[in-house]
Amino acid sequence: MSLGNGRHYLAIPGPSVIPDRVLAAMHRPAPNIYHGELTEMVPGIVTDLKAVAGTKHHAAIYISNGHGVWEAALTNVFSRGDKVLVPATGTFSEGWAGMARALGIDAEVMDFGQRSAIDPARLAARLAADKSHEIKAVMTVQVDTSTSVKNDVAALRRVMDEVGHPALLMIDCIACLGCDDFQMDAWGVDVMVTGCQKGLMTPPGMGFVFFNDKADRARETANCVTPYWDWRPRVDPEMFYLYFCGTAPTHHLYGLRTALDMIAEEGLDNVLRRHAVLASAVWAAFDRWGEVGPLELNVPDPGARSHAVTSVRVGSAKSTALREWVEERAGLTLGIGLGMAPAGTPEWHHFFRVGHMGHVNAQMVLGALATVEAGLTAVGIEHAEGGVDAAARIVAREA
Ligand SMILES: *Cc1c(COP(=O)(O)O)cnc(C)c1O
Repeated sequence: MSLGNGRHYLAIPGPSVIPDRVLAAMHRPAPNIYHGELTEMVPGIVTDLKAVAGTKHHAAIYISNGHGVWEAALTNVFSRGDKVLVPATGTFSEGWAGMARALGIDAEVMDFGQRSAIDPARLAARLAADKSHEIKAVMTVQVDTSTSVKNDVAALRRVMDEVGHPALLMIDCIACLGCDDFQMDAWGVDVMVTGCQKGLMTPPGMGFVFFNDKADRARETANCVTPYWDWRPRVDPEMFYLYFCGTAPTHHLYGLRTALDMIAEEGLDNVLRRHAVLASAVWAAFDRWGEVGPLELNVPDPGARSHAVTSVRVGSAKSTALREWVEERAGLTLGIGLGMAPAGTPEWHHFFRVGHMGHVNAQMVLGALATVEAGLTAVGIEHAEGGVDAAARIVAREA
């Protein structure tokens, strides 16, 4: 029988759970886009977005998903033939590199595998070898959503400075802004891209590019700039419609306004702390289950794990059976394994991911873990007893 009726938990790494308050804020008649409340609301949204990103510089809003702001960032700083270095820790860094190549940018991928963070020493050696400063930017993800590897962004900037390389540092925080700590200015990031549908708890449809004056100087000579993706008019609009190069994403803006209010009410530090504790509860459960049998977290080093998403290795082709069981029998949707093994192979079924980003609390995570434990038993994945207990102890200690 199914026990899945009741409130469903979509525990995939984006889009994330949408708060009822955000949905309610979007449930309204169409607002005027020429004057009044909506137009007055947008400057405050820009200010609050910058606070979450840790920057005093510029923020451009796009009607787009994450792929759109990838393209926006690329087109504003590069010319065809420019070289960009892409340290990769999974599918998403490679995806951004692929988009750069399609635009005629020479993207060199440095592969750091699927289970550990970018090694700053290797990056330093590659940059030091670039004596003529051909590399115009270092571009990567803070969190790769496929592997759940978290990179140490501040360390990347440190080695760039140590070797005296003038490249821009461009970071994709789509998976993790509002979940994992990120400080654009303090960490010396020149361009950051994110979307609204993960840590920012708003339905997919808006993307953001944050950039500083150094990046904006690259925009002066970039020959990939196109009218729609140009960030200039969006950050200094003479007319309201120029924020969005056309009609505003009216209802999304109301949703985002409410999501940013919720972050401010909780306090960003508390939001980040909540994600950290809930992530360690997830890790504790999988560590315990994995004491017997092949189940294991994808990232061995806790310091290189995201607080937004966790990738799991099942060690057999049973992850699809597990995902189907928890979804159909218990109302929990887990994320597919992405980019870990080629689609169509048995190995593709060896992985899954748990999203714990955004509007997620202890009872949701403990419920999800207990459901996974039931699923492990039901589909016959070998595991040690006591995973949920281990997670509950973390919650009891930290809450
Ligand atoms: C989700 C995600 C993307 C892609 O975002 P879309 O909205 O699906 O285009 C890119 N990078 C990272 C790190 C992500 O988590």
